[in-house]
Amino acid sequence: MSDNPSFVLKAIEKVEYEQRPIPEIADNEVLIEVKKTGICGSDVHYLVHGRIGDFVVENPMVLGHESAGVISKVGKAVKNVKPGDRVAMEPGTTCRVCEYCKSGRYELCADMVFAATPPYDGTLARYYVLPADLVYPLPDHLTLEDGAMMEPLSVGVHSVRSIADVRANQTVAVFGCGPVGLVCMAVAKALGASRVVAVDIVPARLDFAKSYAATDAFQPPKMEPGQSKIQYSQNSAELMKKQLGLPKGVDVVVDASGAEVSIQTGMFLAKMGGTYVQVGMGTPEVQLPITTMLTKELVFKGSFRYGPGDYQFAIDLVAAGKIDLKPLITHRFAFTDAVKAFNATRQGKGDDGKGVIKAIISGPDVPVGPL
Ligand SMILES: [Zn+2]
Ligand SMILES: [Zn+2]
Repeated sequence: MSDNPSFVLKAIEKVEYEQRPIPEIADNEVLIEVKKTGICGSDVHYLVHGRIGDFVVENPMVLGHESAGVISKVGKAVKNVKPGDRVAMEPGTTCRVCEYCKSGRYELCADMVFAATPPYDGTLARYYVLPADLVYPLPDHLTLEDGAMMEPLSVGVHSVRSIADVRANQTVAVFGCGPVGLVCMAVAKALGASRVVAVDIVPARLDFAKSYAATDAFQPPKMEPGQSKIQYSQNSAELMKKQLGLPKGVDVVVDASGAEVSIQTGMFLAKMGGTYVQVGMGTPEVQLPITTMLTKELVFKGSFRYGPGDYQFAIDLVAAGKIDLKPLITHRFAFTDAVKAFNATRQGKGDDGKGVIKAIISGPDVPVGPL
């Protein structure tokens, strides 16, 4: 009998546990026993809507992609890890030969096999297979929960370091204080930003951001009746510059909210020649103040997942004590309670009444708690 219990999305709002075969590995691959998996907005989105943009769930799919585990078996050609090693798991396998893979932007590979992005199965199972170079040994002083959190942290490293290229003493504003916004702030701080401004409409989220990595917090005003979104955003950016004492604006804006008015406000807030990076996925089409972009010579960039070097950089920041991921883990669940973890993430609140930043699900038969 196989012993690979897996948490499978069968249809919208329908999940089930299934026994799946234990996967075989090729010479360059490793079999990992998954120990900890974080739940992400995208997992919940597939559960509730069955799709994200063009990615549509048509067949049953194992959920989960933010994971860490222990190496169970290695292929003949594997040299970097051995059975028993604790590793963070980068969940996207690329073709390695297309122009993007070869030019160092493998996140753009058209043949990406990404965990829990249809049609590919995710990591909420006892076992998962990866090429050996996509597992990263964890230093002894990091937990497997830290290892699972390297996935969202790598999204922050990619947008703030690799795409925005934030430097010491720059001013950075991050819109949205969800998990991605928070890790973006943490990376900006770790890279030596002089000001890290958190922006959100929920005061409790701003309070947490300030206690975690932000130097300043800004709660945008309410929209006035009759005001257009663009007028509102422009006023909001002016108010923000005044309150923060940054009349010229900020060097770098990172939007981790995906909300139209945040995107607009961010473009008005960026200083002349500044950089704007979109990492939040939200409203698919928005109106942009394009003349502002032109006259400021604003650099406008997208940021998708993570690319070469981002995972290791994330691990190094945490290993060096420059980022602490533990405060972001607010809720923990056993594998058999995976549905509860999804519900808590979806509602933004656990049964304990506390706000959810990140819920972690343990692997099958793995104790709940740091490990
Ligand atoms: Zn994620
Ligand atoms: Zn490729």
